[in-house]
Amino acid sequence: MTRLRTQIPGPRSQELTARRKGAVSAAVGSTLPVFIDHAEDGLLVDVDGNRLIDLGSGIAVTGVGNPAPRVAEAVHRQIDRFSHTCFMVTPYEGYVEVCERLNDLTPGAHEKRSALFNSGAEAVENAVKVARHATGRQAVVVFDHGYHGRTNLTMALTAKNMPYKHGFGPFAPEVYRVPASYPLRDGLTGEQAAARAVEAIEKQVGADDTACVVIEPIQGEGGFIVPAPGFLPALAAWCRERGVVLVADEIQTGFCRTGSWFASDHEGVVPDLVTTAKGIAGGLPLAGVTGRADLMDAVHVGGLGGTYGGNPVACAAALGAIDTMVDKDLNAAARRIEEFAAPRLRAALGGRGEVRGRGAMLAVEFAERTPAVAGRVAAACHAAGVVVLTCGTSGNVLRLLPPLVIPDDLLAEGVAVLERAITEGVAR
Ligand SMILES: *Cc1c(COP(=O)(O)O)cnc(C)c1O
Repeated sequence: MTRLRTQIPGPRSQELTARRKGAVSAAVGSTLPVFIDHAEDGLLVDVDGNRLIDLGSGIAVTGVGNPAPRVAEAVHRQIDRFSHTCFMVTPYEGYVEVCERLNDLTPGAHEKRSALFNSGAEAVENAVKVARHATGRQAVVVFDHGYHGRTNLTMALTAKNMPYKHGFGPFAPEVYRVPASYPLRDGLTGEQAAARAVEAIEKQVGADDTACVVIEPIQGEGGFIVPAPGFLPALAAWCRERGVVLVADEIQTGFCRTGSWFASDHEGVVPDLVTTAKGIAGGLPLAGVTGRADLMDAVHVGGLGGTYGGNPVACAAALGAIDTMVDKDLNAAARRIEEFAAPRLRAALGGRGEVRGRGAMLAVEFAERTPAVAGRVAAACHAAGVVVLTCGTSGNVLRLLPPLVIPDDLLAEGVAVLERAITEGVAR
């Protein structure tokens, strides 16, 4: 491939990897140990001059481009005016404007409020705080294959032991896990899967003790699992009936990734609270909790916040990112990516597993429930200069999260590498 000048990783990356070993905790891993010098839309250029095709967007973050011109411009303008005041000390307009945009874009036309934080995990923790405070109940219900972060509470909410939880207990109490909908494996309709989940909650947790149900509308780290149609609406209806707060964790699925602003939109589900992060600010750390005004305003003054939450530079970046999504119609772009890539991947896989997902959140689950094939395919892509990620509770899922602005020729080139890697990977 002409995009590659050296083997992957190249000599300069290998030098930096050796240096890193003496400075960075070995507990922090990297999927692909190439050190990046700069990026262009859809390309990561490493310190050896290799041009890698980016089908991961830094885990669904740089959907608007890397760097996105409007994000970079907004960041430069803001950093020259002020970098920080702490919104809890003296406020600024950018924070308010991001909250207005979130209130407007998230599902439902009801009265909403938002609060801003630094990371997805922090947003999820705060959504739980709001739900508990507003309901006076304690239990939190989550699902098999769910992922919600790495802090103590969110580790408890996350399903997978290795690498997220192993050796890090004890975990936060009052967290209950029930089965979700996994059409490939459970063969249930959405309604049947919802009835199964509801029965488990009613019998084992008790609706009157349940503060909230926290769910990813399409599960991310757990394997890009799209629930059967009807599952989310039935669950939402039960929550409404029983006064349980429905928290949609849209941290990976939000901001045009699935071809609509939020994945809840596909089935007309209106959650009580929505958590956002990842794609929100074109790469700057920002997260939000948005939802029903009566819930969000129920907490006492000073009950939510943090030193950096809603940092002005991150807020400026978010406004630049959201403007980019609107102007470039990135929802349509995500749907075009699916139309192009999904049939090709399906043909390459040839029934030895499943290709699924929505928009530019696509996955290949291999039939073998071990990481072997997915790992082999990912390694072949990496060696050919295409950045792909894996996921899944069994590690047998290859996931694609290309930048929504990826040029057609780069996407075609990246998918061609993947097709070849899949064909060879499943044949071995
Ligand atoms: C990534 C992710 C989180 C955690 O976000 P961080 O910013 O890494 O803390 C939570 N929920 C979902 C669905 C995610 O994909």
